[in-house]
Amino acid sequence: MKIAVDVDGVLADIIVTWLDIYNAEHHNSVKKDEVNHWDFFGRLNIDRAEFDRIFELAWKNWRSIPPCETMLSQKVSDLSKLGDVSIVTARSTSSIPSVKAWLSDKMISYNDMIVVDYGPLKSALDFDVFIDDSPLNAKNIAASGKLVLLFDQPWNRDIRGEGIVRISGFSDAIAAITNLSQKKEKT
Ligand SMILES: [Mg+2]
Repeated sequence: MKIAVDVDGVLADIIVTWLDIYNAEHHNSVKKDEVNHWDFFGRLNIDRAEFDRIFELAWKNWRSIPPCETMLSQKVSDLSKLGDVSIVTARSTSSIPSVKAWLSDKMISYNDMIVVDYGPLKSALDFDVFIDDSPLNAKNIAASGKLVLLFDQPWNRDIRGEGIVRISGFSDAIAAITNLSQKKEKT
């Protein structure tokens, strides 16, 4: 079983740090729950370049990025008992050292890290299961016939469909993948 685990919005709660920087610089007070759309930055009257600038700054400040849930190290370790866990992330190459430092600091172990360009490129990768929070990735991965465990976030609440299973954390992921393994054994 090959398992792809996303970083932003699945392991690292990047939006928290992103909003801290955005709110301070733009004199605003947007909260995470209000980020209920993938392209939310358009509604904040900033463009993609400004979103990316704050994103890069947030990762430079990686020590301030909280995990998406508690006991991540143990949960990812439990997940790796079910298959090979790869970190699969779409991002700029400049933030990769920060991501590696964050994962190491949180004691999250993984087989390898695959960095893809932005866009729906993850679906083409050879994995059985993807744990992701992106609506676009979820739709593309499901359309390619693979399983998506959609990590519940305010910006993906309206996404559903065949091949998409909503999870509220890694305990749900472990249950879903155990279920999938049992089904595969039967066929
Ligand atoms: Mg993500």
